[in-house]
Amino acid sequence: MSATIAPIRTRFAPSPTGFIHLGNIRSALYPWAFARHHGGTFILRVEDTDTERSTQEAVKVIIDSMDWMGLHYDEGPYYQMQRMERYRAVLDQLVEGGHAYPCYMSTSELDALRERQMAGGLKPRYDGTWRPEPGKALPEVPAGVQPVLRFRTPAQGSVGWDDKVKGRVDFANDELDDLVIARPDGTPTYNFCVVVDDIDMRISHVIRGDDHVNNTPRQIHIFRALGHEPPVYAHLPTVLNEQGDKLSKRNGARSVLQYRDEGYLADAMVNYLARLGWSHGDAEIFTREQFVQWFDLEHLGRSAAQFDGEKLKWVNAHYLRALAPADLAQQVRPFLQRLGLREQGVDLAAAATLLRERAHTLLDVAQLCGMFYAEPEPDADLLLQHLTPAARAAILDLRSVLQALPVWEAPAIAAAMKQILGTHQLKMPQVAMPLRLLVTGRLHTPSLDAVLALFSRDTVMHRLASVA
Ligand code: GLU
Repeated sequence: MSATIAPIRTRFAPSPTGFIHLGNIRSALYPWAFARHHGGTFILRVEDTDTERSTQEAVKVIIDSMDWMGLHYDEGPYYQMQRMERYRAVLDQLVEGGHAYPCYMSTSELDALRERQMAGGLKPRYDGTWRPEPGKALPEVPAGVQPVLRFRTPAQGSVGWDDKVKGRVDFANDELDDLVIARPDGTPTYNFCVVVDDIDMRISHVIRGDDHVNNTPRQIHIFRALGHEPPVYAHLPTVLNEQGDKLSKRNGARSVLQYRDEGYLADAMVNYLARLGWSHGDAEIFTREQFVQWFDLEHLGRSAAQFDGEKLKWVNAHYLRALAPADLAQQVRPFLQRLGLREQGVDLAAAATLLRERAHTLLDVAQLCGMFYAEPEPDADLLLQHLTPAARAAILDLRSVLQALPVWEAPAIAAAMKQILGTHQLKMPQVAMPLRLLVTGRLHTPSLDAVLALFSRDTVMHRLASVA
């Protein structure tokens, strides 16, 4: 008889407080890949109980970011604020089971306690005044005070788990004081909601940032008090920025959507982020399908990963070059529009395919496309410098030869140029530079024969007419 294996269910549980950067979305990518690898279920849960900081726009940013990256969820979004009744019912259950108790200590009493402890060189912690114990007399309940609910943490022993990234992690229970799980108004607190959700959503693997390691022992206690074994945990090391600080909005981290808007490709982003904290041998470039096929928790990195903008560009450039011309054109088009360039005359798929060789992003390609879709406005000084009398004569001649070419194609154009260089005894740059300026307005372009071939012959004739 084979053992029943619980279905794999993972979640991404962001707080919608305005911003998601690459480190955040990586915490969606790995649970997504893990669920996909195992044919499991990936869930989006919006942790919006911080009502002061949570906004609907931020929820949209999360959903748009996941959508752009292709991290589609199978269930959700669930919203914690819509689950309050359920949390209250579970709070009651904990109180009835003796796992939680009301605590009437006021904020000022707590402050005074903390001060005393710190003055005595102790770590500040709740002292258990209201914790019921057999044979212990509790203080008299003060009138008119709404209590908080505290979770009754086991006093002795320890709690731990085999973290898929960190290995064995243990906490002594006497390090953990009795956590507040409901505020005086009855609203549940963060760690408690997470556990109720992870139970109700039958989460099998929690893959999240290691800033939650200190919450985990508390969460495990709540799981057990509710009669459940905790899920498997994998706590991901931080992502550092290029200066070696934790990636955060405060020190310049950019939003995921900003990368989209700058012309990064979603597949490139998935590939880059996959490698930022996980590896498969030496593989640097792999498809989304390969990633899903290879992804496992065993090869998550144990130390902090550092963001490297140059590497991201390199990966993006790779994906840019791999796109089929029609897909490339389709992806570049919105960027052209944003730059106010009108796609006309020159075929965008052909132009973008030529230009991507020197681009890192879709935006780069669109900007370079300006040479095809904007009237050239060559800088007068540059023109003066490059359009020497000799060059002028050669270009005039070239114009006649080009006019007579039987086919308007790059090899024929290249041959014509070679012929003119020979007759005029000039070097390529002497003619190519002014020619580029006249036709495209730019000094730097891909190979001139390929560029000219993309324009119509009429356009080239027209732009060279000013030389006469
Ligand atoms: N809402 C938490 C955060 O945004 C994640 C909680 C979790 O994954 O357990 O950091």
